[in-house]
This record gives sequence, C-alpha cells and structure tokens, in this order.
Amino acid sequence: MTFLFFSTLSETYQYAKIDLNQNERRDFMKYPNLLERFLTYVKVNTRSDETSTTTPSTQSQVDFANNVLIPEMKRVGLENVYYLPNGFAIGTLPANDPSFTRKIGFISHMDTADFNAKNIQPQVIENYDGGVIPLGQSGFNLDPADFASLHKYKGQTLITTDGTTLLGADDKSGIAEIMTAIEYLSAHPEIKHGEIRVGFGPDEEIGVGADKFDAEDFNVDFAYTVDGGPLGELQYETFSAAGAELTFQGRNVHPGTAKDQMINALQLAIDFHNQLPEADRPEKTEGYQGFYHLMNLTGTVEEAQASYIIRDFETNAFENRKATMRTIADKMNQELGSERINLTLKDQYYNMKQVIEKDMTPITIAKAVMESLDIQPIIEPIRGGTDGSKISFMGIPTPNLFAGGENMHGRFEYVSLETMERAVDTIIGIVSYQEK
Ligand SMILES: [Zn+2]
Repeated sequence: MTFLFFSTLSETYQYAKIDLNQNERRDFMKYPNLLERFLTYVKVNTRSDETSTTTPSTQSQVDFANNVLIPEMKRVGLENVYYLPNGFAIGTLPANDPSFTRKIGFISHMDTADFNAKNIQPQVIENYDGGVIPLGQSGFNLDPADFASLHKYKGQTLITTDGTTLLGADDKSGIAEIMTAIEYLSAHPEIKHGEIRVGFGPDEEIGVGADKFDAEDFNVDFAYTVDGGPLGELQYETFSAAGAELTFQGRNVHPGTAKDQMINALQLAIDFHNQLPEADRPEKTEGYQGFYHLMNLTGTVEEAQASYIIRDFETNAFENRKATMRTIADKMNQELGSERINLTLKDQYYNMKQVIEKDMTPITIAKAVMESLDIQPIIEPIRGGTDGSKISFMGIPTPNLFAGGENMHGRFEYVSLETMERAVDTIIGIVSYQEK
C-alpha cells in the first residue's frame, strides 16, 4: 500500500509518471488523464449554499464551470461549448456515423454536499492492501470494520480524503468520467457513435440545480446522470417527494390560571405528530417503504412551526400521505373550533419511473452494455431524488448511472480509480451501442 499525497498539479503529473514507469499500470495507459483530471476537480471548492438566492448558489461553481470545465470541454474535443445563465456548461460531440441517429446526453453536477470542502487534499492509495487507511493526520481512519464496502477494493487504487473535508467524488467523479470518455472518443474516431450532448450543472445537492435545466436546448432523446455509487448501479426509480410546513397557533395565559384557557402550540405540534403512523419514519423504513420525516420543530406556547418531508415510490401512496396530513390538520382544527393549524404542502419532485417505463430503451442499452463489459447491473430504487427525477418530467428520460463514490457527503468518502475507469467504459459502450 503506497500513500501519495498530492498538493499541486505539477506534483500530480510527476507522481503519475513515476508510478507508470515503475508499475506498468494498464489503467494509466487506457485513460491516462482520468486520475489527474479527477484530482484537479476535487481540489476546487464548489460547495453549494442552501441559503443563497442566486443561480448557481455559489460563485465558486460559476468560476469552476467557466475557468476549469469549459476550457477542458473544448480541449477534449467538444464543439459548440457554452455556459447558460442556469449554471450549466454544455457541449456537443457530433455524430461520426449517420447510421447512429439517437442523441444521448450525459449530465453530472459540479457542486458538493453540505460538508467542509475547503482545502481538499486527496490521498491516493495504490494497490490497497485491505487494511485500515489513516486519513491524513486527522485521527480518523477508513476501517473495513466500520465500512464493509472496503473489502471489495483490495488491490485497487483508492482516492480518499485527509479526514478534514469531504472528497467530492459526488459528483466530480461523474464529470471526470464523462470528460475522459469524450477525450477517448475524440482520439478514437474508429469508434462510431451518434450525437452526444454533455451538461455539467450546479446545485444538485441543495435540490434546485435541475429546476432551471433547459431541456429544449439540451435536445436529446434520453440522457443519463452519471452521479451514482458503486460499480453497476443503474437507477430509474426515485422517490416522489413533497415538503410540508406547519404552523400551530396557541393561546398563552399564565400557567397558574391556565385551566380550560391555555392552548399550548407546542402541545398541538406534538399531538399532530403523534397521529402520524409511527412506523412510517425514515429510521424504520427501507426498500420501497415511504415515510414522513419531521425535519424541524421549534416554537413557544404562543406559536410553533414544524417542517416535514414526505417520500414514497407509488403515486397513490404519495397522494395518500399528503391527504393524511390534511385530514389530521382538519380534524384538529374542528376539535379546537378554530383554524389553529395551518398546513402548506409543496410537491418537490416525482418518481422518474412514471416517465421511463413508457420506453425502457435507456435502461435496456445500459444493461446490455454493462453485461458486455462484465459489469453486474445493480438496478435498485433510489431512496432519494436525482437531477434526473426533474429532467425526466421535462421530457428527457434520465436514469442514473454509477460514478463510483462510496460513503458520500462526508470525510469517509472515497472512490476507486478502477470503478471510475469502468464508468468511462460504460459511457463509451452506451454511445457506440447498436441493436443487433
Ligand atoms: Zn451527486
């Protein structure tokens, strides 16, 4: 197990070269720029900001798109490269064979999750020995006893954090993979493909980036977000999602003389919550089970506020959950004799399966390609949403492909270089796929 600490780009080049000469790595030969590209991206802090009112939510994403991604998109051979006011960097690789008539898009997000992203110092561990990986000097370790997924990666090259930040493999690995696939296709015109559209967007982690996605401009038959976890993940089912905001109006009087007069807003909130099914909470559900999740509860005797998110896979069950909340609020208002409980429900996104099951071509192709590459497709519902949940409902069916990340959104995040290479293989396979 070798530890390589990269601090500058030039050092990265140096180590990559030394390594190549010493170990004759096949991987570096096939996609020689993939690792360096990924390391360059993750070192840029592109954390999004939920409290921002701008698009993108942070200037660092604008700068990353314009100063890092767009020049490189041109360098790897994309044409008609431009930056949209919605924060998306877009480019096209034209078809090189007229018999490929499908236009396929690939989308990844450039922001990183709500965790420290300042001064990211990735560690590269060559030929992982299966043991405990110390995360820099932080005192934190990546330990197979805590993270069983590590067992899968013995012998591979892992990229980890130094324990003080997240890594940002979610979703810089997706960007690096798409960029590398385009670079490879540009250098290998013997691989025939149709038109490919690439989109790198902002603010996925705060759930708003895809809201302003321009589907008409992107103009493809279908697309994939490359934004998933382990090797083989292929996802086309997400939650349907809504948010619920509640206010509870109390009546405050001196507790000594409160009998039959006081209405405690906090007690109303508790009563409301207790009428929701106890088993339908995130900590008690898995697989296809939906839930109500109490996110926030604050208040005084006078007034209280509660925020929930509602999640389900099935449309009927999703609608029923919203109806249940309305019924409880109505019933309580009736019993109180006045409108003391105010409920506002807002749909956030819908299960993309409703769109994709109408034409399963993107799934059929991705599955066939993975199988031809000896990658076992893992088709499971996402207990969350993706940019694809929204983009699919804008008319472009957009399932999600693995990008390789593990333990995303925190200091234990890591990714395997070999999985990233397999993602590049998969992208190239998809665009060059032809029905037999
Ligand atoms: Zn992501």
